[in-house]
Amino acid sequence: MKRRLLRVNLSTGTIKGEDIPVKLAEDYVGGRGLCARYLYDEIPAGIDPLDPQNKLLFVVGPLAGTNAQAFSKWIAATKSSLTGTFSRSVGGGDFGAWLKWTGFELLLLEGKAARPVYLYITDGKYEIRDAAAVWGKTTSQTQGYLKRAHGVRARMVCVGPAAEKLVRYAPIISGERAAGRAGMGTIMASKNLKAIVIEAERKESLADPEEFRKLVQQHIKLIKDDPGFEASRQHGTIACMDHFYSAHGSIPMLNFRSGELEGWEKVSMQEYAKVTQKHVGCYACLIKCGKIRKISSGPYAGLTTEGPQFESAWAFSGSIGSTDLDATLVANYLCNELGLDTISTGVTIGFAYELFEKGILTTKDTDGLALKFGDPEPMLKLIEKIARREGIGNILAEGTKRAAGRIGKGTEQYAIQVKGLELPAYEPRARKALGMNFATANMGASHQYGWCGQETGNPKPRSVSPVADEGTGDIVKYSQDQTAALELANTCDFASLPLQLLGKILVAALGVPKFGSEEYLWYVGEKVYNLERCFNVREGFDRKDDTLPKRFLSEPLQGGIRDGEMIRKPNAILDEYYAARGWDRNGIPTEETLARLGLEEVDKDIVKFRR
Ligand code: SF4
Repeated sequence: MKRRLLRVNLSTGTIKGEDIPVKLAEDYVGGRGLCARYLYDEIPAGIDPLDPQNKLLFVVGPLAGTNAQAFSKWIAATKSSLTGTFSRSVGGGDFGAWLKWTGFELLLLEGKAARPVYLYITDGKYEIRDAAAVWGKTTSQTQGYLKRAHGVRARMVCVGPAAEKLVRYAPIISGERAAGRAGMGTIMASKNLKAIVIEAERKESLADPEEFRKLVQQHIKLIKDDPGFEASRQHGTIACMDHFYSAHGSIPMLNFRSGELEGWEKVSMQEYAKVTQKHVGCYACLIKCGKIRKISSGPYAGLTTEGPQFESAWAFSGSIGSTDLDATLVANYLCNELGLDTISTGVTIGFAYELFEKGILTTKDTDGLALKFGDPEPMLKLIEKIARREGIGNILAEGTKRAAGRIGKGTEQYAIQVKGLELPAYEPRARKALGMNFATANMGASHQYGWCGQETGNPKPRSVSPVADEGTGDIVKYSQDQTAALELANTCDFASLPLQLLGKILVAALGVPKFGSEEYLWYVGEKVYNLERCFNVREGFDRKDDTLPKRFLSEPLQGGIRDGEMIRKPNAILDEYYAARGWDRNGIPTEETLARLGLEEVDKDIVKFRR
């Protein structure tokens, strides 16, 4: 079965289809695996992420666009404008299925167009078209215009005005779903690419259709039997607002100072349920974790929006100490419209609130806004300022790490980021293995890179205490490799899918027997993780970058059921983690590790970084 890539050079306007070499496809399976290999090979080391030499890759997994459940997500990957590391971000909706039906699993964008354009793909036809009419428009205006131009059957991704201003953490938006993290939209806009529009008819080509159907039914049963299924369907990820607060004390409050907040019950999942109108989901997914919510009274009455997911809801409430649900919905809506990553936006604003509280920023710096924890109104104004790079927004548009560098006065201690990526909704002092994943993950502090559910009840390979100070380095590795293995098919996090079953489904779809081995998928997952690490090593990242913000290492958590906890032995866990990975003490994969993973040819690129 042929697997294909579409290469689009925006500088020259050339577009051509390529076969993905059979050996490459077998060695890397698909999805994130192919992302890592193509980007390692094609992005020159040391370039500025905003340079036209940077590349942006869209990839769908081999099961996208079929009836297999929760496999139609799309990944965007690049050298991040926020972190300078290899980064990938996952988006939902229908776009992944539509991309697969064009006959291409990968869409590789290179160069930079001379003026704003969008890419139009339909059966065997590819065009770069003028985007002057939508440049500067919000994401809903852009998508509305392109739907009118191409009809309701078209599916699309686009960037908002914030990306056009090169805000460093702009996402790519499809409908109201985002590939949110690490500035995928920033890179897309840096290429003067406003949108990608696809018209395609459903196509399916399976090696063994009968077996495939049987396995999909097995998977559906597993999804329905999962204890979290009903909560996911009813509440989506908002169910986490209650669970992680009361059972784990791991929701960070007030720019990660505290583990509790008075009035948190006002933003509980029951409160969100009261404003939920409808359940929506990605292509071929019975879970439908997306929620359409509507504000029915007060100053924002009538606003209807998809979301927020848990992390976004937290970013606009816990992070700034607000329990105003309506303001959270408005903030989420504004970020989707203007094209801002909700997590980085909320955490960067929480950072500004803390600087204001400490007197480091005053109303002279904030264009007259009084940033008081608990008050969400200035946050809504800051979101617009960031998107337009107006006043204080121009500094905050750089993310917390660069903003602290610009402001000075020791403010880096309040910048809650790793490698430049702001932390999501999980307190590292209350979930220490996840905290170590934040410290070491290839793209910076992403919960989706290694969830470490072993500290919240997952018994495989073994449960660990969420506050263990050491003994969890191998668990962090396990979780990161497992995620990488599942993302070889862009599997959704909520798919309840054992790797063994994924392997069988891949064989039924593609007819490649070795994909049926669970051991092989683990092996490729680990290989992909190491290749991404080598991408970062080549850029100068090493042990010095695998750390958490000082706050977690020196200040006890205040309040909540993990009151008083700190990260006490970060170096001990890091040493365990490097040992489990087969990396040296500086965090560089050893020659033996690369050989074991079939990455011998990478050694020459990183040998000089070993100590
Ligand atoms: S669970 Fe949610 S995010 Fe995952 S595929 Fe289904 S609808 Fe999409």
